[in-house]
Amino acid sequence: MPRPIKATIHVANMTHNLERARACAPGSKAWAVVKANAYGHGLERAIRAFSGADGLALIEPDYAVRLRELGWAKPILLLEGWFDADDLQAMAQHGIEGTAHCAEQIAMLEAAQLPGKINVHLKMNTGMNRLGFMPEDFAKAYQRLRAIPSVGDIVLMTHFANADEAAHECLPIGEQIRRFGVGAAGLPGLHSLSNSAGVLQMPALAGQLASDWIRPGIMLYGGTPGGKPAEEFGLKPAMTLSSEIIGVQELKAGDFVGYGSRFQADGAMRVGAVACGYADGYPRHAPTGTPVLVDGVRTRTIGRVSMDMLMVDLGPVPHAGVGSKVVLWGEGMPVDEVAAAAGTIGYELMCAVAPRVRVVEG
Ligand SMILES: *Cc1c(COP(=O)(O)O)cnc(C)c1O
Repeated sequence: MPRPIKATIHVANMTHNLERARACAPGSKAWAVVKANAYGHGLERAIRAFSGADGLALIEPDYAVRLRELGWAKPILLLEGWFDADDLQAMAQHGIEGTAHCAEQIAMLEAAQLPGKINVHLKMNTGMNRLGFMPEDFAKAYQRLRAIPSVGDIVLMTHFANADEAAHECLPIGEQIRRFGVGAAGLPGLHSLSNSAGVLQMPALAGQLASDWIRPGIMLYGGTPGGKPAEEFGLKPAMTLSSEIIGVQELKAGDFVGYGSRFQADGAMRVGAVACGYADGYPRHAPTGTPVLVDGVRTRTIGRVSMDMLMVDLGPVPHAGVGSKVVLWGEGMPVDEVAAAAGTIGYELMCAVAPRVRVVEG
């Protein structure tokens, strides 16, 4: 018998969320971003859920080839491009497109003897300062790429740092759009700008933010990049992490719970042990008070999360006992809310679900 913890993937909700992304950007083509094993939801499921996307985008070259083997026939994009010359061969062979963000990558492309053309997404650094060519160097990089016979279409691309906060004090999205416009001026090619945060801003920024290709990720999985609840954008959870109560203790005032005895009861209370710990991907740093559902009722975690268990307050659910259902996040308990309580983001929680957790569909 497996442990009662499981991740239920809601494939139909993933499809619904892709439609929400498209509704925000009606004229755009959509890459469904499926890096990190589709943010923990599984590549094979992503192929089914996102069959209506124009392409799938990810980071891992080996998984890109796997998508082809799994039967995905539409475009595939490597968001960080190629890491070595072998990647370029595989890309040309399997018809995989790739981002070029540095001169070293272009040099690799110049040196490669490829069996076919590859489409390249040339990345501009508009202020995030991770990857990409500066706006003033962009046209030169473009011309260098254009001169390579094995380069097919060139798409112009950048990535937003703070699209979830239109008036960000350090780097507002409008400033990145402006820099992109300067660097891309006069260069032919489609534009690819918006991640989920950008996509969700597109209705509000109509006229200012155009993105021929959008690149939604987290919103497809029912999370939001900013502080606003996913529900407000009509997004539905794509993963429910659930388990059961496997033990109950009756505490009296002064009793402690768990490693480090970090929680002390200030009166009589019942607590439940849930079969879910940090070895399942639940964040160990989630403090007392992190929200959780027991038998559909909101309560809180208490004490330290351990490897295989965490403890919950059964005060609000007096009828709960061994076998009661627990939802850690997902339907009825937004992943973003759990993440915020634990000082992280929904992305990290979804991606961290451990291999020992059974995955089912529902
Ligand atoms: C991950 C990623 C995305 C998707 O970002 P979300 O915030 O999950 O929507 C888009 N573009 C690039 C280049 C990425 O690496």
